Amino acid sequence: MEKDIINEKTSGWLKIDSNLKEKIFDFCKGYIKFLNVAKTEREASKEIISNLKDCGFKNINDVQSLKEKDKVYMINRDKSIYAAVIGSKNITEGVNLVGAHIDSPRLDLKPNPLYEDIKLALFKTHYYGGIKKYQWTTIPLSIHGVIVKPSGEKIEVEIGEKEDDPIFTITDILPHLAQEQYEKKVGKAVTGEDLNVLVGSIPNDDDKVKENIMNLLNEKYGIKEIDFYSSELEVVPAFKAKDLGFDRSMVAAYGQDDRVCAYATLKALTDANAKDKTIVSIFADKEEIGSVGNTGMCSQMFDLFINELLNKKGENTPGALNKTYCNSMMLSADVGAGIDPNYKSTAEENNASKIGFGVELNKYTGSGGKSGASDANAEFVAKVRRIFEEKSVKYQVSELGKVDLGGGGTIAYILADKGMDVIDCGVPVISMHSPYEVTSKFDIYSAYLAYKAFFEED
Ligand code: MN
Ligand code: MN
Repeated sequence: MEKDIINEKTSGWLKIDSNLKEKIFDFCKGYIKFLNVAKTEREASKEIISNLKDCGFKNINDVQSLKEKDKVYMINRDKSIYAAVIGSKNITEGVNLVGAHIDSPRLDLKPNPLYEDIKLALFKTHYYGGIKKYQWTTIPLSIHGVIVKPSGEKIEVEIGEKEDDPIFTITDILPHLAQEQYEKKVGKAVTGEDLNVLVGSIPNDDDKVKENIMNLLNEKYGIKEIDFYSSELEVVPAFKAKDLGFDRSMVAAYGQDDRVCAYATLKALTDANAKDKTIVSIFADKEEIGSVGNTGMCSQMFDLFINELLNKKGENTPGALNKTYCNSMMLSADVGAGIDPNYKSTAEENNASKIGFGVELNKYTGSGGKSGASDANAEFVAKVRRIFEEKSVKYQVSELGKVDLGGGGTIAYILADKGMDVIDCGVPVISMHSPYEVTSKFDIYSAYLAYKAFFEED
């Protein structure tokens, strides 16, 4: 039989070269650091910008004209970032784009969050994106975000991360009294209105706990209760990102969807030796709630960025934006579902990603009969395969779970709608959309190599 006639899939760790293993582990040390300081889209934006600046990128608003090798970024309302390295070819000949998202599922405080019940103070929350609600209970939580006063003064909040910070938690009923809860379906056992965060218990001299907490917040942040109206405070797991396993081969952390691909994209962008094509990265917000809003991928802001590149490179003529899009290619850098040994029945093994087996390509996402999928063309998949194979990037092609069991989507279709060739390409995750997601270091590094190879393609 001809060699390799059967596509035998193997772990990337199998007989791995010790140099490569060291590179992978080193890369993931940086990744773990990034995760621990970038738990929200605002914090991720800040980290990404600081990295880009260190690598010589400039704010596009501060640049009059663009030429080959110039590096620029645009910040969209402190929540999403677009960045580019200009190539020698015309931008209208197409860009190589890698786009990830930096928002993750979380609990947002409601506009009137603080209340008192049986002499305990709590925050009401409204969940953002889909973590199973019961998973939010009895874990340490931290609060991150901003409070903006009518004067424009912005107060940044981060509490629950430092070693001596207090943390917060959402309580759950003890098993001894859980008979009614046990009867409920798991999706209904904890409801949205049950996700109230415990924040205090000492009353003031008038026996009011809420007032005492409000006083403490006033002392610490200089805010009044009404200032919650104009705040964005996000409750996230207070866990630290950690090496997972005796062999330290995996990463366990909150928010790996999709900051794992965002980090790999950032490093690929700054490390790539791009040739003639202009290379572009997206770090989008609001993916988890449908890519809506002015910081989401559906907004006109990305068009503005590309238009600015065209303007400042002196290439903008009628139709130039459309032409750029139709000639461009993109990796939608988002995570996939790694098959879980505890829940094998939800996957069809031949078409499921295995963590540690390399970066994952999804030709299509969607649900049911591929509903909502942009479905990459075979010609484009072949091109991406060639790019990866030439640079020895280990990859696997898979889909999300068994047919008709559920589904999901990414930002891929939004750019495909503009006329680009797009395929989803990211890191498989176990326990995706949970407070503590699991990835393989081999796949994280493979994603970095994949994005870098894609940027370096002409
Ligand atoms: Mn995602
Ligand atoms: Mn997600």
